[in-house]
Amino acid sequence: AKDPVRVLVTGAAGQIGYALVPMIARGVMLGPDQPVILHMLDIPPAAEALNGVKMELIDAAFPLLKGVVATTDVSEACAGVNVAVMVGGFPRKEGMERKDVMSKNVSIYRSQASALEKHAAPNCKVLVVANPANTNALILKEFAPSIPECNITCLTRLDHNRALGQISERLDVQVCDVKNVIIWGNHSSTQYPDVTHSTVTTKDGEKAVPGLVNDDEWMKGGFIKTVQQRGAAIIKARKLSSALSAASSACDHIRDWVIGTPEGIWVSMGVYSDGSYNVPPGLIYSFPVTCKDGKWSIVQGLSIDEFSRKKMDATAIELADEKALAYSCLN
Ligand code: NDP
Repeated sequence: AKDPVRVLVTGAAGQIGYALVPMIARGVMLGPDQPVILHMLDIPPAAEALNGVKMELIDAAFPLLKGVVATTDVSEACAGVNVAVMVGGFPRKEGMERKDVMSKNVSIYRSQASALEKHAAPNCKVLVVANPANTNALILKEFAPSIPECNITCLTRLDHNRALGQISERLDVQVCDVKNVIIWGNHSSTQYPDVTHSTVTTKDGEKAVPGLVNDDEWMKGGFIKTVQQRGAAIIKARKLSSALSAASSACDHIRDWVIGTPEGIWVSMGVYSDGSYNVPPGLIYSFPVTCKDGKWSIVQGLSIDEFSRKKMDATAIELADEKALAYSCLN
């Protein structure tokens, strides 16, 4: 049998955490033959709720779950972890200035970075979910210099999956037959969901999505808007933010990263920009990637039209702005 993998979930007593930990314990993230030990971290006011989640995990008797650590101590939470899913963050509260929210998250991500740096297993893979996800990941990278920068990523897979879902609904095809959409940039309302290169598998072979949809106005308008604002639509409907889809996409992100993407398929991940597609280096930006042997690489050579270029630049500008704000909070 395989050795257990230690998976950290921060903010584990929250909504996404509650949906995510059973998925991990069932093998949705790392595979049905991979035992796991869950490390759950939350803040002291959530300690009792966190203990309740631990009790439920025990009661669920998951065969793959070989241990549960539930703690409010960051060092204990990070000890020996191979995968870290960072869901805990300071939420935007009504009336708060942008800078105040950023400042809270900068200090959270700075201290958690140091704990991961000191206590995580070598080669630990990190996924940041908590908003502002890209910039939190950047701060984490800054304060965990011994973790290779390629191991620090943020979640845009939910946006990616939402885009697949919208195409599938629009064309009335199975979502598993739609592939290679792209989310460029920030996990925010400036993200650019791009269908230019996406295809649908039909009985007559691969067909380009733009040709099948044949409605430029929708692809450049309604589609993009729906994907960008899907989170708000869910809050309106559920009176709570999306949690099951966020948790599921976090599992997709880690699974594809660790196990590899299927041949011919790319996915979107927020990763440290190397300047590909003229995206400024030094930002955590969502790109199309393929994964193999536990490593991601940015899909190269895609043609970028003028419309896409503008959208990709606008979201990069927002990220540069967030980065400047985050750094101003460090002083
Ligand atoms: P959720 O579990 O709903 O969300 C957690 C984080 O994920 C938020 O930052 C949220 O951003 C972000 N997120 C990213 N993508 C999505 C998405 N598609 N849908 C919804 N959220 C998304 O929040 P809860 O408040 O239920 O739980 C947060 C937990 O974190 C709590 O248990 C709390 O105690 C803990 N916490 C930890 C802190 C720390 O580690 N120091 C500080 C504060 C809280 P957004 O806010 O933009 O919705």
